[in-house]
Amino acid sequence: MRTHNAVNSITSPHLTSVPTSLGGPVAPSRGALRPLGLGDVTITGGLWGRMQELNADVIIDHCLGWMERIGWIANFDRVAGTASGHHAGIEFVDSEVYKLLEAMAWELGRRPDAVLDERYRGIVSRVAAAQDEDGYLHTSFGHAGQRARYTDLEWGHELYCHGHLIQAAVARLRTGHDDELAAIARRLADHLYTEFGPDGRMAVCGHPEIEVALAEFARATGEPRYLELARLFVERRGHGTLGTTLFQGHEYFQDDVPVRDAEVLRGHAVRALYLSAGAVDIAVETGDDELLAAVESQYLRTIARRSYLTGGVGAHHQNEEFGDDFELPSDRAYAETCAAIASVMLSWRLLVQTGDARYADQIERTLLNAVLVSPRADGRAFYYANTLHQRAAGSATDDDELSERAEASMRAPWFEVSCCPTNVARTLASVAGYFATTDGAGVQLHQYGSYTVDTTLDGGERIALSVESDYPHDGAVRIVVVDAPTRTVPISVRIPLWARGRAEVAVTGAGAGAGAALGATDAVFTVERSFSPGDVIELRLPMEPRFSHAHPRIDAVRGQAAVERGPLVLALEDVDLPEGIDVEHVELDATFSPVDDLDGAIVGLRRRTAPEDEWPYTATVAELGEFFTATMRPYKDWANRGPSTMRVWMPVSAGS
Ligand SMILES: [Zn+2]
Repeated sequence: MRTHNAVNSITSPHLTSVPTSLGGPVAPSRGALRPLGLGDVTITGGLWGRMQELNADVIIDHCLGWMERIGWIANFDRVAGTASGHHAGIEFVDSEVYKLLEAMAWELGRRPDAVLDERYRGIVSRVAAAQDEDGYLHTSFGHAGQRARYTDLEWGHELYCHGHLIQAAVARLRTGHDDELAAIARRLADHLYTEFGPDGRMAVCGHPEIEVALAEFARATGEPRYLELARLFVERRGHGTLGTTLFQGHEYFQDDVPVRDAEVLRGHAVRALYLSAGAVDIAVETGDDELLAAVESQYLRTIARRSYLTGGVGAHHQNEEFGDDFELPSDRAYAETCAAIASVMLSWRLLVQTGDARYADQIERTLLNAVLVSPRADGRAFYYANTLHQRAAGSATDDDELSERAEASMRAPWFEVSCCPTNVARTLASVAGYFATTDGAGVQLHQYGSYTVDTTLDGGERIALSVESDYPHDGAVRIVVVDAPTRTVPISVRIPLWARGRAEVAVTGAGAGAGAALGATDAVFTVERSFSPGDVIELRLPMEPRFSHAHPRIDAVRGQAAVERGPLVLALEDVDLPEGIDVEHVELDATFSPVDDLDGAIVGLRRRTAPEDEWPYTATVAELGEFFTATMRPYKDWANRGPSTMRVWMPVSAGS
């Protein structure tokens, strides 16, 4: 075991108290960049605007309705003694109530809503009534007829639930309200410090989440003990203290190797990524650059070797865990929605620390493909697992029926373990917090769409931009300067990996003319000049559909190709194929260049079929049929037209 930083080193001079303006989910005290929060970035329309409207109008209500209907919120009333009956749902359903409260808090921060505010306060009051005298709060443990507190750290998810409550409190604080939920969270965090702090039990929770929550709560409250406790939880992990089972060893819990000594993300994907996000926060606030570098290196290997084209991670259905390097089968992709969200959380933290655009690329890819595929177009059903190849169309799911786990071809309205829908809700409500940063001197735009940026630079000067784009439908992004200091200011735009060498940037207005040319490998382009209101930076990204090929070590798709359009991965569904042809029959004709078609592409296909026989292997290759064309559409939109078969990767029949 290594020696670690002394406890007194965690008292960061930058930990501040509650901010007065609207913040975002993450507010590190140092880093190459500083996140701009919901007070500085406002989504005004486009795809993200529509998704936020869907969240506000449907998804949040949908989650609330289900959790009232099946008694998950009433679990708090049962503990408070105002309702009778047994605890409903598995042990950790409290976490879904908290993630919904987080979504509601961000949403209320985005715009006032009297009805939502009343609902929010109503649930918080019910949660408050279930808190024990000493701050403990959980509806499955520690009360009459229940198991004692902290007697099942491996599987009880007590601190996991506590972490989600604390993150909901952070959302409330960052949206300007130091009220009841923050008070509940302080009492709970104080209890946890007593129970698990330096003088408490040397234990960790089976499911990380408390680490990232406590670190951010320390930032939001200025309380260094919360950061100290978060650090202890990270440092205690990896020493085999959690009990294992036949199928879940120490690796499953990331309890096999200390975080700072690990070489790759492994085990249960959501656990690994939440832990990594927390470790980054702790490393940043304690000046532990060794820990930060360790997590970054583990994550870079994960991006390079354990990520699907969609950005989805965690290939194995078994244990919801990472597979080996390059083990990325399309038809058995687990790629849980929550793992994708956790990957975005980690990418954002590393982007802010390093300024490295590859993390913004990963956020874009993951959000637009692996996260947005989860909610159905009407916001009333969700994917939990996200396959890249659906062999059987299956049957439509009942919108009134609870699903065990989404392994069906269609999205389900709610799950026995329903972590993903509420995770989608909180992410959509706070997604503006992942769009832009400042380095104090200027502004960096990492994601595109329709939004405004209005913030104050280090010199106290205002800078306001209006970003106008129908991205990712359209590759034209207009950045209109609304207000800017009279001095020279750098404004940076990200050039996505797929656009490098083909993107164009032009500046029009009073200050036009100067500036360096865009290089073929530039990941970031900075326009640095004295801007006047009305000046426009125009970014043009090439949106022609293109073939993508996997590293040959990804055996499952060797010899196959996918089609992407801008940042969107496309998918072929059987409903877009001629009658009698299934996605299993087709090969991609690479001699036919894909033709742009709305958000998708028209591709050339050939059919390869063989009669089914008693033995599926023959000495000859099955014959190739005639050429035809079909439309591929964004992967995120698949299975919105009834049951279908689908594939992202297709065998290539010629050339390429
Ligand atoms: Zn999930």
